[in-house]
Amino acid sequence: MNKSVQTALNNLAVHQPLAGLAIGTQWHPGQGTPLKINSPIDGTELAQLTMASPEQTDAAIDAASAAYRDWRCVPAPVRGEFVRQFGMQLRAHKADLATLVSWEAGKITQESLGEVQEMIDICDFAVGLSRQLYGKTIASERPNHRLAEQWHPLGPMGVISAFNFPVAVWAWNAAIAWVCGDPVVWKPSEKTPLTAIACQALFAKTLADNPDVPPAISSLVIGGADIGHRLSSSPALPLISATGSIPMGRAVAQTVASRLGRSLLELGGNNGMIVAPSADIELAVRAATFSAVGTCGQRCTSLRRLIVHESIADQLRDALLEVYKRLPIGDPTAEGTLIGPLIDESAGHAMDEALSAAKEQGGTVHGGGRVAEGVPSGGVYVRPALVEISAEAPILQQETFAPILYLLRYEQLDEAIELHNGVPQGLSSAILTQDVREAERFCSPSGSDCGIVNVNIGTSGAEIGGAFGGEKETGGGRESGSDAWKLYMRRATNTVNYSDELPLAQGIRFDI
Ligand code: NAD
Repeated sequence: MNKSVQTALNNLAVHQPLAGLAIGTQWHPGQGTPLKINSPIDGTELAQLTMASPEQTDAAIDAASAAYRDWRCVPAPVRGEFVRQFGMQLRAHKADLATLVSWEAGKITQESLGEVQEMIDICDFAVGLSRQLYGKTIASERPNHRLAEQWHPLGPMGVISAFNFPVAVWAWNAAIAWVCGDPVVWKPSEKTPLTAIACQALFAKTLADNPDVPPAISSLVIGGADIGHRLSSSPALPLISATGSIPMGRAVAQTVASRLGRSLLELGGNNGMIVAPSADIELAVRAATFSAVGTCGQRCTSLRRLIVHESIADQLRDALLEVYKRLPIGDPTAEGTLIGPLIDESAGHAMDEALSAAKEQGGTVHGGGRVAEGVPSGGVYVRPALVEISAEAPILQQETFAPILYLLRYEQLDEAIELHNGVPQGLSSAILTQDVREAERFCSPSGSDCGIVNVNIGTSGAEIGGAFGGEKETGGGRESGSDAWKLYMRRATNTVNYSDELPLAQGIRFDI
């Protein structure tokens, strides 16, 4: 096994040999299919394990259901104290977790550290939230009646996560779910199970100091789409949070809806940025570059479409091409690298296909192609591409999970907003302008139709304090901050009559 990975796993006290199933503190060898985990950095094998079977997944769900009966009655601030302690473990092991994220997802060290920081931040948020699960008191129309709502735990939930945020997305869900009183059964991406195993090990470490916490509030099932389907179809999981591609979300949504469960979907994006004539060009170049090439274009919020006013389009294109020329591409764990590898060969193939299609559709492609020199052999390293293309090109409608930025031109803001909204996805969006009327218009009901609407920053890099998610085919889910917690709880509306009369609502008379 790779030395850095082995050291990180040892520091994190990960149970070895690696197991495909963990129910609380208990690790079980998987009884499903064998899995080899290869690093996108150099293709080397990082580890092997056997994934969980569908029956083992059911066992994890049963254990979560049993844990729920106790956990729901623990006061929310006490649940918050457990999350606080888990957050301290994350702090202590930030560098080790980041090492694993880099080796199995291919992120540069800075972004891997950022991902772990998001986990720490959401724990802090959840601790505060544990004392703020507020319900409303409502004026009753009946005398001597109290009308109020309470928020109660919902039940055990399933989390299905994608490879590109191997741990942050789980933490967004788990930290909130735990303070809300819900146990979590997590199926990480089969491409990135190591960091998930490490998180479960840190959870077990936190449990050691908290003997009253039911261990099965966290379980881990390593598996593929079949195991995701097993979670989605279980009536014992009232909520399924699923992050990934649109086809995956469509499948999960239908399965969960067929049993009338609740789903929280965080699916693909196709994010646009409008650059207006008054924009600060230097800032636009920095914002567009980070959003388009960060994580090698493999963020749901990655910038895909740059919609530039025709008066500055050539200037911005030339400035971007200049920056693109000198972006350091290579080993993501090396100091100074800004672009690491794509996750695997199929991602490289998808990028090649999209660029060929763009050319066929009349696009002019700058950059793209594989990088062979100065990069570790065995990984898929690509040059980011900038593609000048007409707004009608069909390729603009699809998300390609790679660093391809399409450049479109506009004359009027109305036209730019129409182009911007003219795709099936609706995750993140941005406008760069110094004109307050344009900025406010973009944020208004007739502006961007996305879940995330930014002014003078890029499309990627959201903070945990806001509710994160998108509209249209992005799935409509919201997780992380603001009042996203309400999805993890059930609301009970209570009417209490403290009189000896029985007045009926709406003044109805029913004398017996
Ligand atoms: P993916 O859809 O291939 O896999 C995501 C997860 O779903 C994996 O755990 C996978 O095993 C599971 N899965 C696949 N098919 C399933 C099915 N039929 N039923 C149940 N589970 C199933 O996605 P990926 O390649 O890992 O990630 C990239 C995609 O995720 C991109 O489209 C990206 O935009 C999206 N994404 C969205 C967000 C967001 O917050 N909106 C965040 C990260 C990634």
